[in-house]
Amino acid sequence: MPDEKILLIEDEKNIVELLKYNLEKEGFRVSHVTRGDEALDAVLKVKPALVILDLMLPGLNGLEVCKILRANEKTARIPLVMLTAKSEETDKVLGLELGADDYVTKPFSPRELVARLRALLRRSREKPKQEVVKAGTLEVDFGKHVVTLKGKTVEMTSKEFDLLGALVNAQGRVLTRDFLLESVWGYDASIQIETRTIDMHIGQLRKKLKAEAERIVTVKNVGYRFDFEK
Ligand code: CA
Repeated sequence: MPDEKILLIEDEKNIVELLKYNLEKEGFRVSHVTRGDEALDAVLKVKPALVILDLMLPGLNGLEVCKILRANEKTARIPLVMLTAKSEETDKVLGLELGADDYVTKPFSPRELVARLRALLRRSREKPKQEVVKAGTLEVDFGKHVVTLKGKTVEMTSKEFDLLGALVNAQGRVLTRDFLLESVWGYDASIQIETRTIDMHIGQLRKKLKAEAERIVTVKNVGYRFDFEK
């Protein structure tokens, strides 16, 4: 989605330039501040779709900023990516515990970062419309993260659940393999995973869905869709 605003909180000039260049090239609008103690005001003012937050900052460090953003009702749900250096592994874990959605270790590949931001933005946009979606004897409960067939729980891996969830939420639209890679696997590494991984997971998912397996329809040379009509 073009024109989405990203707020960058980073004091290293080189990184700011690298990120601005790559993000603007991708159609994002980028605002930036260099100090941790300016972060909250900037987020409230810019109302970004996503925040990229460096760990080592003047004023307040990234962890403190993260805590403040998560504690404020107006900023608590904005997706947040932490930038950390290799030597800051423990802080990375702490950052995730404090509510960062993802982290990227410097030095990073801009392409990978953009892919991760996209996946994160997509996930934050595509909150399920309904808590429970039914199709035939199949029920997907997004609130409880449970799939049932004729009332019986189907054991699923989290990737299988996310994959089925993405298909169900698309409400019959065809989803390409690339889209599924980014929305389901984007967090791990959308670049390293091959598209046939999806086909493999779809195969497993169909096995588990038994009588309802046909609802996952292969659209030749494109991807998959979920059929509510069958
Ligand atoms: Ca820094």
